Amino acid sequence: MKKVLVLGAGQLARMMELAGTPLNLDVKAFDVRSLKVVQPISPEHEYGNLAQGIANADVITAEFEHVAHDTLSECEASSKLYPSSNAIKIGGDRRLEKSLLESCQAANAKHYFVNNKADFDQAISALSLPIIFKSALEGYDGKGQWRLKTPEDAEAVWLDMAKFLADAKDTQSIVAEQMVPFDREVSLVGVRRKNGDIAVYPLTENHHTQGILSVSVAAPVNETLQKQAGEVFKALTEELNYVGVLAIEFFQVGETLLVNEIAPRVHNSGHWTQQGADTCQFENHLRAICDLPLGSTSLVRPTAMINIIGEDEVSNDVLAIPSVTIHWYNKGKRAGRKMGHINVSGESELILAQRLVQLATLLPASAFPDLAEFAQSYL
Ligand code: ATP
Ligand code: MG
Ligand code: MG
Repeated sequence: MKKVLVLGAGQLARMMELAGTPLNLDVKAFDVRSLKVVQPISPEHEYGNLAQGIANADVITAEFEHVAHDTLSECEASSKLYPSSNAIKIGGDRRLEKSLLESCQAANAKHYFVNNKADFDQAISALSLPIIFKSALEGYDGKGQWRLKTPEDAEAVWLDMAKFLADAKDTQSIVAEQMVPFDREVSLVGVRRKNGDIAVYPLTENHHTQGILSVSVAAPVNETLQKQAGEVFKALTEELNYVGVLAIEFFQVGETLLVNEIAPRVHNSGHWTQQGADTCQFENHLRAICDLPLGSTSLVRPTAMINIIGEDEVSNDVLAIPSVTIHWYNKGKRAGRKMGHINVSGESELILAQRLVQLATLLPASAFPDLAEFAQSYL
């Protein structure tokens, strides 16, 4: 039985454990808060500290990109870490991420790095308004961002950003990006094995509510866009000599894709693969890092994923809708927290849309703010 250690003990590690069990993989997770190695699905079971976890593991991976750098170094020294610490760090630092995109000639929003007021003024003249400012480190779910739409607001935005930089005592930096007038947001989840084999899932359309992913839909896609996204995936993963699942978020503008950001891990916009693809992203990530043949990434049928945000129960009536599954993460209830997700499939896009409309009537609007509107628009 091969032993896998995941850095981070959240829902992604949990779903890796669930996917790894049939493959006879033993998945444990390093909880970065308690500093203990635990069983992801029953975290009350503890298995020692990081050093013991590393020694016991055959393979180490990460479920998030904001892992402390000394932890990454300790894991890399064991030669068991996939993807590499370099790839994980790039996903956690927007400055490194932008230079990777530039070196791979991957189209992305015009940007500028900001560390002081002079940079801020330069950014405004180099990029025209509106501009989105993002903290270089630690941002997720739209946190650590400022939007500047009109010149009158510049002073207030700068004061807030200056306070943020000062509080971080030079450890932080800010990336200014031109606001992209996108038609839609899509992401590509794919996987690469050590021998260079690559498999990518169909592009997924993503909808956000207050900066948090709310709905992802995978359905047959435009071949031109799929090809473009696949080329970016190949270029980035080859440059990084990447092993495992990597997600790329894109803005679609007409028939062009601009990279928003990358995630060096399994990704929320890939959760639909549990019911909608031949092999789910969690299994494919484990296959890649354990150097097993990759599984097919083909779409089985149109599928949508709906995040359950801030609620720890939903009506059981949703289970009466055909092809609906619920995945709870066993996390404490907190506003704005991802607590679980629902996958729903349909034999056709129309049937999927009808099931989304049905779901919207059963789920509380507080936890699923834009679902009803999205379901109607998708119909
Ligand atoms: P995640 O949880 O996906 O990691 P994050 O906090 O890293 O989120 P981004 O994905 O960079 O943040 O931005 C969050 C959302 O803000 C995007 O999905 C998009 O809707 C919007 N956004 C970000 N950058 C831009 C941009 N340059 N132009 C237009 N909209 C943007
Ligand atoms: Mg991000
Ligand atoms: Mg994002």
